[in-house]
Amino acid sequence: MNHPMPSLPYAAEALAPHMSKETIDFHYGKHLQTYVDNLNKLIPGTPYEKMSLEQIIRKADGPVFNNAAQTWNHTFFFQTLTPQPTAVPEKLAELLTRDFGSVDAFKEAFTKAALGLFGSGWVWLVSDKQHKLSIVSTPNAGNPLTQGLKPILVIDVWEHAYYIDYRNRRAAFIEAFWNLVDWEKVAERCVMKRYECTACDYIYDPETGSPETGIAPGTPFEEIPDDWTCPICGLYKDAFRPME
Ligand code: MN
Repeated sequence: MNHPMPSLPYAAEALAPHMSKETIDFHYGKHLQTYVDNLNKLIPGTPYEKMSLEQIIRKADGPVFNNAAQTWNHTFFFQTLTPQPTAVPEKLAELLTRDFGSVDAFKEAFTKAALGLFGSGWVWLVSDKQHKLSIVSTPNAGNPLTQGLKPILVIDVWEHAYYIDYRNRRAAFIEAFWNLVDWEKVAERCVMKRYECTACDYIYDPETGSPETGIAPGTPFEEIPDDWTCPICGLYKDAFRPME
């Protein structure tokens, strides 16, 4: 399959002054475009040709891995920025406080990891199988999917991410990054949503689970087995809709 260039959810000049149009033109328009082009040149005629980006990242190594992961990582990075950031949603603040002590303590630890990563790479907020949040650093094109972790937020600390706007001052770039994080999107990736049965109005709340039908408290709706049925009306999962 041909992997498309992802679209940006904002105009190239929209993130200024924190991130200039020139940085977007080079970082998104040239660096990311090159990774996408290279990936599309490398995979025809290989077992990777029909795989999704995530499957390639989990299975490949060498140049195929590098270009696939750089495509994924940059897409995730650019799509988590916004010119109109909102406050950290309450549910996300609760999770960050649970696992880091406070929202500020999380930002401090993430900043420290981003400053401390030697050379090129990425610093991530990730969620593990138990839904606990932590910070991991990956060198070069690394991606936490290969460690069974779910990416929630990422900062690109390759020099190409900040050299146009901040020269060698990575700390200034990280500070600017905090002005652009789309907290709503970050929350969507780790706050467990409630789901409503469209037939009978039963509400599945992941906090309480559904012990009477064998679903433990803390189970996200997405992880409930497909043969599970609504405890009230007996319809399958596809009758459920996420609630805002
Ligand atoms: Mn980059």
